[in-house]
Amino acid sequence: MAFKPANNIQDLQYFGEFGGVNPSISDSSTYTFLSAKTMFDTFEGNADGCYLYSRHSTPSNLYLGEALAAMEGTETANVSASGMGAITPVLLQLCGASDHIISSRTIYGGTYAFLKNFMPRFNIKTSFVDITNLEKVESAITKNTKVLYCESVSNPLLEVADIKNLSKIAKKHNLKLVIDNTFSPLSISPAVLGADIVIHSLTKFINGSSDTVGGVVCGTQEFINNLRNVNDGASMLLGSTMDSLRAASILKNLRTLHIRMQQHSKNGLFLAKKFETDGLKTVYPGLKSHPSHELFKSMMNPQYGFGGMLTIDVGSLEKANALMELMQNKNLGYLAVSLGFYKTLFSAPGSSTSSEIPEEEQKEMGLSNGLIRFSIGLDTDIERTYKMMRKCMIEIGVLK
Ligand code: PLP
Repeated sequence: MAFKPANNIQDLQYFGEFGGVNPSISDSSTYTFLSAKTMFDTFEGNADGCYLYSRHSTPSNLYLGEALAAMEGTETANVSASGMGAITPVLLQLCGASDHIISSRTIYGGTYAFLKNFMPRFNIKTSFVDITNLEKVESAITKNTKVLYCESVSNPLLEVADIKNLSKIAKKHNLKLVIDNTFSPLSISPAVLGADIVIHSLTKFINGSSDTVGGVVCGTQEFINNLRNVNDGASMLLGSTMDSLRAASILKNLRTLHIRMQQHSKNGLFLAKKFETDGLKTVYPGLKSHPSHELFKSMMNPQYGFGGMLTIDVGSLEKANALMELMQNKNLGYLAVSLGFYKTLFSAPGSSTSSEIPEEEQKEMGLSNGLIRFSIGLDTDIERTYKMMRKCMIEIGVLK
């Protein structure tokens, strides 16, 4: 039967403490115990349903985690203060000194920097590979490899991971397949396709209002318990905890995610088709010209489309900057990093969100200077937006 992530979110029912239609917010950092024995048991991890201290868990964080686990089809989830606050503890929980990670070479710049520059402090090394080349992935595995890491749709090049086949490789070699699904919530359900752990930066589409950072790790109860363990859990000990007020507000925004994703995708597909027809080098997984268009189609929950992210290459950084400034002046969007906002956001990743990646490596992976990454907004009249964007492109000399 087809997986229905939005139904799974909708089917959860919560009431607030006084019958409120939203769950009550737990505005406390610590919790009382009726007996000293229960407190002891909770520290031992044996008191189900008891709250201990808000860095460990809070009712509001658990509500949000439960909804995100329902969305991803995992047993449970743990929310965190940011996307990086989800990614870094997962990798530190799964790897110890001298372990090895295989990562896609096109990933978010912060994750790349963590793997490349920070993890070697613990003698944890990463091989960066072309994740679309399954033979290369498999041949990079060593006896120390513990994790296969990638994004379902990569930042910023929009490469698509073949999750089913990556999962087969991971299982064969006893690795954990960790997928960052930030670019394709609802559209792709990595755990259903075989991923062991699914991560999101909630900062982006899921929260959707660019007013907070947040993250989540979705996985088995056993793994999430490990992350939260008071003795050796990376999430508990590194302390990247989401605040309950934020968890409550993200949960409210999550309820409109299915409608927003449909609109982001509709607008993204419309613009990508127009830009491509105009002769711009356009990358969007919904275009037939995308090398993994068929793969995306084979994995997707079709009603949510191909997402709101697209890139165009306008030839040089100067032109990219001039175009973005002009589009901002015309109020077509904002020259800003991040994604998933109601307004279109654009940036040149080579000099911003992927600037942690050395220039040589950027070139090798096809990240050119003139690349503009768009997070397409919720515009109600996308044809009007297109016409105005086209005018800007003509003015800058990107189109004739
Ligand atoms: N993963 C992806 C794909 C991202 O694009 C980002 C941020 O841009 C992150 C993770 C990190 O998330 P956060 O900024 O919420 O820490």
